[in-house]
Amino acid sequence: MTIRIAIIGYGKIARTEHAPAIAAHPGFELVGVVSPSGAADADVPVYPNLTALLAAMPGGLDAVAICTPPRLRRALAAQAVDAGLAVLLEKPPAATLGELEALVAMARAAGTCLFAAWHSQYAPAVAPAAALLKGERLASLAIDWREDVTKWHPGQEWIWEPDGFGVFDTGVNALSIVTAILPERLEVEAATLAIPEGRQAPIAASLRFAGPDRSAAFDWRERGEEAWVIRLTTASGRAIAIEGGGARLVVDGAEQPLGPFAEYRAIYARFAELVPARALAVDSEPMRLLADTALIARRVAVPAHG
Ligand code: NAP
Repeated sequence: MTIRIAIIGYGKIARTEHAPAIAAHPGFELVGVVSPSGAADADVPVYPNLTALLAAMPGGLDAVAICTPPRLRRALAAQAVDAGLAVLLEKPPAATLGELEALVAMARAAGTCLFAAWHSQYAPAVAPAAALLKGERLASLAIDWREDVTKWHPGQEWIWEPDGFGVFDTGVNALSIVTAILPERLEVEAATLAIPEGRQAPIAASLRFAGPDRSAAFDWRERGEEAWVIRLTTASGRAIAIEGGGARLVVDGAEQPLGPFAEYRAIYARFAELVPARALAVDSEPMRLLADTALIARRVAVPAHG
């Protein structure tokens, strides 16, 4: 069965990752794109909104991948579920935990597939790290997630809106990795959010989790090399480092052989299994950590950054 799919929101991630991964998977056929401001480079029909797409292809569509900014996902996903379509949600899968729970309930009631695609969970270091941590007890955790926002998000104003996630647009990738691999459930005990002057969303954040030596630092003001590193030690004395956002795995100082970094190909391989099974695959834990952070964080004002 070929899964006829449309991409909703044809921006950076749709162009660089989703369209190539769909093209590379023999089980999918891209049949349309929704882009309010057009998409001259798409070689499939382009529609200004989801309603126009659905009207143009009755019975001709099986699935959608929603790649808009997060605040738009709930309404679009609800419309797609209502139309009986399988839905892939880019990360973060909704703007709030409540929205995500509502989407899960809708998809469950409709018997449609809903897939929250946390792309970092498909980085090659993640499954081997999870296997190493199985049955272990965590001794320490340090997330160090730094990058230059002007390099990675040029011109994206939505990230600074109250529902744009700020530095957590990137930082939630680290949280999605740890929720996938850790042998314990994390609880946010304290948090600080650095809010630039004139903005609503944080440019940096630090979190302390319950238990000894469990912390995370996220910063978009890095001018040098990005750092996307998670360091863990276990009670049995093992040291594990997940580097490069999940591209590399170092165990007790020795780099481990891994497969290629092909997150989106792995995502579409998984979606191809989930669609015919009409399955739900939604990890809401990274959203819970963000929601808990927002509830207890101390906010500090920092200078505007550009
Ligand atoms: P982006 O470049 O700003 O693209 C967002 C797209 O959504 C734009 O093309 C925009 O179209 C479209 N859009 C806005 N309103 C819409 C609507 N009502 N219906 C359909 N499309 C609409 O953002 P992005 O970087 O691709 O990020 C999108 C999502 O992917 C975010 O949640 C982000 O966290 C995630 N993500 C991004 C990256 C990355 O490296 N950029 C990596 C992984 C995941 P117009 O321009 O026409 O308004």
